[in-house]
Amino acid sequence: MSSCFKITHQSKNSLARTGILTTAHNKLETPFYMPVATKGAVKNINHIQLQDLDFNCLISNAFINYLRPGLDLISKAGGLHKFSGWNNSYFTDSGGFQLILDHFNPVINDEGVSLKNPFTSKKEMITPEKSIEIQNILGSDVAMCLDHQPVFGKDRKDYLESTIRTIEWAKRCIDFHKSNSNKLNSKQLLFGIVQGGNHIDLRQMCALALTKLDFDGVALGGFGIGEAQKDMYNIIYQTKKYLLIDNPTYIMGIGSPIEILNCVENGADCFDSVYPMRMARHGLIFTANGEIKIDRGAYKEDFSPLDKECDCFVCKNHSRAYLHHLYKTHEQNAHVLLTYHNVYFVQNLIKNIRLSIKEDNFLKFKKEFEKKYKK
Ligand SMILES: [Zn+2]
Repeated sequence: MSSCFKITHQSKNSLARTGILTTAHNKLETPFYMPVATKGAVKNINHIQLQDLDFNCLISNAFINYLRPGLDLISKAGGLHKFSGWNNSYFTDSGGFQLILDHFNPVINDEGVSLKNPFTSKKEMITPEKSIEIQNILGSDVAMCLDHQPVFGKDRKDYLESTIRTIEWAKRCIDFHKSNSNKLNSKQLLFGIVQGGNHIDLRQMCALALTKLDFDGVALGGFGIGEAQKDMYNIIYQTKKYLLIDNPTYIMGIGSPIEILNCVENGADCFDSVYPMRMARHGLIFTANGEIKIDRGAYKEDFSPLDKECDCFVCKNHSRAYLHHLYKTHEQNAHVLLTYHNVYFVQNLIKNIRLSIKEDNFLKFKKEFEKKYKK
């Protein structure tokens, strides 16, 4: 049973719930979305802006920080929080997702992942123990187990093999995490990761195994790489049946408004994704009435705000025409302003989701939001 998480309100007619996740740095009200700060910075939005928008938690990447700038430098600075000047919570992803990327030339076996460091060309071996050691040194609030995520579309036997390996690695991660004294953050939490692809039975097998290992929370990984959305929601729903009710549940790689709503409905407590920031850089903007592409010619003389229902400073001060002009002329500020709006939009959605759960109104809120957003 996890003592770091307390459910404060359970929705009556769905799995949606609100709660508090307590870390070494602060208390995080769930559900929450984590902007992705792979290298300790979120693209085109700074820490002060994020704090002003009530973001209390970022997610960084242990493996990427390990490669560059390296643990020696971050240690000298006093850990990842001090190095990056972020005084709220940090999750760190172990890097299981990056380790499968071809440009690292990974070779995966039961021991761990061997790969070529792209900056030094040296061979590296990332084991479950090494991954936890890296996250200990970074001092994150929530560390993630090293998992084996197969590339999307593999055969069932590959998913079975990677699921069994993920469970074995989870055992090694939790053993190392418990035995290794963490000087920088003695209250560091550890989450296990459920893999299994689209195979419900493998997902459930993995979930059941993780619940026996006394993790502080459980994540579902392997999404956002090509599966159908309806499959993902069903996997979450079916997997939740095998998780402890009071385990905080983190859906990795999810950040579009519609996905967030559906994951919350199925009992998700937190998310991370580059989606809002990446879409802003591609000119795709979230609005209450759906997504718009700011580079379209139709906005050249449109002096209305991005979203009439949004009260962020971009919508209060700037028109679609102005933002269209900045975007089309490759002005850097276009990315800054559009990112701010998208991130604000997601945070506002999350706040409204929490409120609707507390008021036992979540499904009605979801239905109304989707009706306008998808029209
Ligand atoms: Zn706005």
